[in-house]
Amino acid sequence: MIALDRKSASAKLEELFKESRRAVAFTGAGISTESGIPDFRSPGGLWTKNKPIEFSDFLSSKEMRDEAWRRKFAMEDSFRSAKPSRGHRALAKLLQRGKLSAVITQNIDNLHQVSGIPADKVIELHGNGSYATCLDCGTRYELDWVKERFDKSNGSAPDCADCGGPVKSATIYFGQPMPEAPMRQAEVETLAADLFVAIGSSLVVWPAAGFPLRAKRNGAKLVILNREPTDLDDVADLVIRDDIGDVLQVFLDS
Ligand code: NAD
Ligand code: ZN
Repeated sequence: MIALDRKSASAKLEELFKESRRAVAFTGAGISTESGIPDFRSPGGLWTKNKPIEFSDFLSSKEMRDEAWRRKFAMEDSFRSAKPSRGHRALAKLLQRGKLSAVITQNIDNLHQVSGIPADKVIELHGNGSYATCLDCGTRYELDWVKERFDKSNGSAPDCADCGGPVKSATIYFGQPMPEAPMRQAEVETLAADLFVAIGSSLVVWPAAGFPLRAKRNGAKLVILNREPTDLDDVADLVIRDDIGDVLQVFLDS
């Protein structure tokens, strides 16, 4: 592990991208804090306020479904008004220049797509919070559809209009099976990468955190950019413990 100051860190990262034939970025909630969306584990982050709702509780309890939607709509304004951060924009620029093959993300905020990265290059491991689906028949519902019914019924979570199944935000809850296609796609990208850059993730949520480790074991260079230490710092080739936007700014300037 090498730790560097900001200027040398940015320069080193530029050099690694220049040398790389196939680079992959792996992002977590930290890339979106500059956009005004709180992460989970920073001091004051969401984790300290509300323990996430488990998938089994969502399925078994109507109260939990109501609570899940109450929390979702309480956060909705900050999600809807969020604009891509410098980190999102730097990655979009790298991708457009052919220097980045894909972004594997744990985020559910849709901001990589908003920053201009084509949807097929954004691999969402934990789903997407900008719409909902019926868990039984898969029908898609827009959040406005859910909100209208939620408000009219005094905060009761609506069921599917087609089959009566539970309607849930299209994100992956703790305890919910991982989505198969993105997991497969993430594996392919991870094993093809010669440079793997983990950005803004505490790397404690599994199985997502397995991808940086697999990339490293498969021979890729591993970079970790996060302002706090992570569990994988010891195995990384380069650790940059600094602000994401400040470090990635170099790609916006060049
Ligand atoms: P996390 O909260 O566990 O870790 C985020 C890390 O980013 C922290 O270690 C923090 O120190 C760092 N960080 C925050 N802002 C930073 C900045 N400006 N510069 C450098 N570092 C910064 O997030 P995680 O690892 O992604 O795991 C949380 C889970 O919660 C994920 O599965 C994700 O799906 C979900 N989540 C998503 C969002 C979102 O979509 N924006 C927000 C909160 C949580
Ligand atoms: Zn249904």
